[in-house]
Amino acid sequence: MPSLVQHIPMASLGSIAGVHLDLDPGATAWRAAMELYYEDKVEGAFEIAGPSAGAYHGSLLRTYRLIEGEARTRRASRRYRLASWLEFEWVPEEVPDHAAAGQAVLEAASAVSTRLKWDRHESTLATVLVAEADADWNDSRYGYCVDKVPYDKICLPQVVCADPAELSRVAAHEFAHVVVLNMGQKLAPHWLDEGIACLMEGRVVARAAKQTVQRGQWLSPLQMGGAFEVDRRDPANLEGVGAAYDQATVLVGYLHSLAADQGLVDLLTALPDHSRWMDVLMTLVKGKPVDAALHHVYGFDEGGLFAKAAGWIGAT
Ligand SMILES: [Zn+2]
Repeated sequence: MPSLVQHIPMASLGSIAGVHLDLDPGATAWRAAMELYYEDKVEGAFEIAGPSAGAYHGSLLRTYRLIEGEARTRRASRRYRLASWLEFEWVPEEVPDHAAAGQAVLEAASAVSTRLKWDRHESTLATVLVAEADADWNDSRYGYCVDKVPYDKICLPQVVCADPAELSRVAAHEFAHVVVLNMGQKLAPHWLDEGIACLMEGRVVARAAKQTVQRGQWLSPLQMGGAFEVDRRDPANLEGVGAAYDQATVLVGYLHSLAADQGLVDLLTALPDHSRWMDVLMTLVKGKPVDAALHHVYGFDEGGLFAKAAGWIGAT
């Protein structure tokens, strides 16, 4: 079983089922539930969402399971503040040594903050989900990050608490998503978001490179976006997701080989930069914010990076 971790952006949750909820007056309850969910009022969201969970041929079920896992956790959980910018939520019966678990999460998040020079102006709730959410009906059982208000939230599977190293790894990965989300102001493409998270969790770039070469497959930027979006309840999809994580690790590993952590900091900072110079660069590269930001920091755009990174590991 590959260990996968996932980032759930707000936009994809609203349209996760590919259903245009706005067109359907009957979807009012679902919309209200999602509003509560984004305010982390998860028990209220679960209650309201229940009756319509099976609607639209079950296409809302992925999201419903997400709400359910967080709501069941909230019912049984306790919370306390690990730092001014980080709160911890856990279920006492399931995380006996919560002090050690909280400390591991705090250390992992602090280390990521330091490496990416994140000022932590937005706070985060780190939740260890109830064990029952760690089931194969839950698409997001490997951990995920959600852009909520008034704080961002990372959800960690209960099973990782048995192993401090594994807990640190998953916490670092998910917290890195919080940092990318805030520093890059949602402009980071999926490969960059996952690649930075994989690097921060300590994934070995050489190993990801070897596996990518062995697969003999190199995805385009567009294919990389879709590869992370598949339904992970289907085991047949997991191999493709694993390949996308490996390639994202290679892409960001290549950037890291050029300018270390500082390059990634500069890249994230450049993404939402609307200074005159960056606007000129956007016009010159005729591309997306990531093209201008990459050009600003490394001197090539997204297409250039994909070609260079493929050559770097001999995947072409
Ligand atoms: Zn991730």
